[in-house]
Amino acid sequence: MLTVLSQLEIEIVSERTKFGLNGAIKSGHLPGIVPLGYKKDNNKKTVIDETTKDIVIRIFNMYLEGKSYQQISNTLNKEKVLAPKHWRDTTIMKIIYNKVYMGDYEKGKSNSKNTLVYMNVVEPIISRAMWNEAQHQKDKNQRSYTRDRVYIFFQKLKCPKCRRIMKCKGSGGTKKKYMYYNCEHCKTYYREDKIEECLQSFILELVEYDMAVKKYFLPILADKKETKTENFTLIK
Ligand SMILES: [Zn+2]
Repeated sequence: MLTVLSQLEIEIVSERTKFGLNGAIKSGHLPGIVPLGYKKDNNKKTVIDETTKDIVIRIFNMYLEGKSYQQISNTLNKEKVLAPKHWRDTTIMKIIYNKVYMGDYEKGKSNSKNTLVYMNVVEPIISRAMWNEAQHQKDKNQRSYTRDRVYIFFQKLKCPKCRRIMKCKGSGGTKKKYMYYNCEHCKTYYREDKIEECLQSFILELVEYDMAVKKYFLPILADKKETKTENFTLIK
């Protein structure tokens, strides 16, 4: 009986806090750390911080220009923006993801199912259109990023001089992302796009061959597999 009672009490309390929290959020009193570009006023209400809001706008603008999280954080560190604050790519990423900049508050983690979005609870810094555009940009940037990071010829190239398997290397630079292959023995480097150019006709042939296999041979193989399963069932 006692446990049931205290359980009930706990539920009532949490219900009350939930209600209180809901009301607080709806009136612009956001819980947690104040995001960049905002501050708390005397009533603990989240309001725009005129001294930092332009940084947020600039970050969104740079991102929409196609700059990566890393490039943006590098720029801000170089200019000592809000120094001694150290900008990281993840800091920028969190800003771009944060719905607060278009005025909404998101409760719960963005990948869990239990998220709740309170719309128009604070004054926006970024327009809805611009925020949504940034999310599209995210897909674009991510696609080109993953494409850049794939070594097409991983473990497939032999050094022209000594025939050893060549190793893959990224340029590491922030401006141009070239992939290199190098032979540690001969100390030679080859740029991936140059190799691709040299091997273009060969690659095209391979792709054509691959497509032919998929089109003509795989269906036959799939058929055979089915027949096998049928036989197996019969025997059983
Ligand atoms: Zn070599």
